[in-house]
Amino acid sequence: MIREIPHFVGGKRVPTTGGRVADVFEPSTGAVQARVPLATADEVRAVIANAEAAQPAWAATNPQKRARVLLRFLELIQGEMDDLARLLASEHGKTVDDAKGDIQRGLEVIEFCVGAPHLLKGEYSSGAGAGIDVYSMRQPLGVVAGITPFNFPAMIPLWKAGPAIAAGNAFVLKPSERDPSVPVRLAELFIEAGLPAGIFNVVHGDKVAVDTILEDPRVQAVGFVGSTPIAEYIYKTAAANGMRAQCFGGAKNHLIVMPDADLDQVADALIGAGYGSAGERCMAISVAVPVGEETADALAAKLAERVRDLRVGPSLDGDVDYGPLVTRAAVERVEGYIQQGVDEGATLLADGRGLVVDGYENGFYLGPTLFDHVTTDMAIYREEIFGPVLVIARAHDYEEALRMASEHEFGNGVGIFTRDGDAARDFAARVNVGMVGVNVPIPVPIAYFTFGGWKNSGFGDLNQHGADGFRFYTKTKTVTSRWPSGIREGASFVIPTMH
Ligand code: NAD
Repeated sequence: MIREIPHFVGGKRVPTTGGRVADVFEPSTGAVQARVPLATADEVRAVIANAEAAQPAWAATNPQKRARVLLRFLELIQGEMDDLARLLASEHGKTVDDAKGDIQRGLEVIEFCVGAPHLLKGEYSSGAGAGIDVYSMRQPLGVVAGITPFNFPAMIPLWKAGPAIAAGNAFVLKPSERDPSVPVRLAELFIEAGLPAGIFNVVHGDKVAVDTILEDPRVQAVGFVGSTPIAEYIYKTAAANGMRAQCFGGAKNHLIVMPDADLDQVADALIGAGYGSAGERCMAISVAVPVGEETADALAAKLAERVRDLRVGPSLDGDVDYGPLVTRAAVERVEGYIQQGVDEGATLLADGRGLVVDGYENGFYLGPTLFDHVTTDMAIYREEIFGPVLVIARAHDYEEALRMASEHEFGNGVGIFTRDGDAARDFAARVNVGMVGVNVPIPVPIAYFTFGGWKNSGFGDLNQHGADGFRFYTKTKTVTSRWPSGIREGASFVIPTMH
């Protein structure tokens, strides 16, 4: 019997009533290891109804008590980190160490959300006019939703759920149907931590489930992360339906390499940032931009040498650098891009196609691929490949490198490696990209800052996590109060019968 992954509604696992299902693979072997239900519209509406019923009592629970649930959740997750990481790795394909990082970066946002009592404090002005005080409060929205991608099945659901729940909302998660088990376990651990039933729900599905969420007037806000076309679709549909939305999309992150940079350090950073997690990270570096031919020639040689040493294999093998891609379709898509790069005239320095791992012949593997002499008109430069493919796009000078990153359709992350503080400062100030690394290849901001890309990498005006996470999942009420008369004048301090 193949394992059936349940929805998680009203505090418990709920089997599907719908009928449609999708396969969940074990990317390392290529085998189907479970089936996930694809919810019907009625099932999704039932989840929303359940969340709506649970939310008022949770909103009325004081923020400190809500925060204590998060504290217990943190302890519970730490206690089963190894098992959770293995479960995550077995469905996603990333290594177990990388899966721990996925969980850890989610937990850091939960840690931040423990500060909810402070973060939800409003503003206060005493004496704004004669006898007038003005204050504001942040109130939960009600039922809110998160729709999340396959590549961080723990981190991104927690980035959404943390602020949503801490602020007093009920949360409906529609995780990726490709690696859905970890979100269900997170929901269970929240219940063990003391979260009331109905406040964190997981409903699996595809477009039918997503559209049902977007059309339901009881859902007040939707936080999305995934590919750009879907991010844009969800943002527009939510806006048309009067629903608050923040939608984060794809990326093509550049790393500018100045001639004064330490090229060994750069090459090491690029190998990790380009090929880690098989390149299936929205903050992966996929374009190296060496400045000047000398820098480019030296960097290409160092990268080619290191790429040869990368070890690719099953995700549960502790000795591999990265594991398989998430599906066979993903391998075929990336292989298609490699062929396109060859056809368009780029120089293929390492070709990862056709990699077979001994004992895992049906796994979804792709070796590290490296292109040089890539130009800005090529598809492998313009489009997100989302695989273990790094391209070198040479720039003549600093201004050209800056322009390439700034003019690209995507604006998620970018980095510069240099020893020159003035160049780094100028770059950080002028580049048209949302998150910048200076001698840091993957500049994912820590939990108490906010995360968000620009241009086609992000739709909406508030970022994820940090203070913006709380702003997104709350609405501001402002109270202007005036007390024209009170008991101060003529107040009586004796018992009336004494008069
Ligand atoms: P995806 O867009 O295929 O799926 C994301 C979510 O949307 C899933 O829950 C999926 O079920 C749902 N979905 C898919 N097709 C849909 C449709 N037609 N209508 C409605 N919903 C639909 O993305 P993915 O392949 O799971 O994730 C990889 C992508 O996510 C990459 O583009 C990556 O760059 C991006 N990503 C971005 C960030 C960021 O913060 N900017 C972070 C992680 C991943």
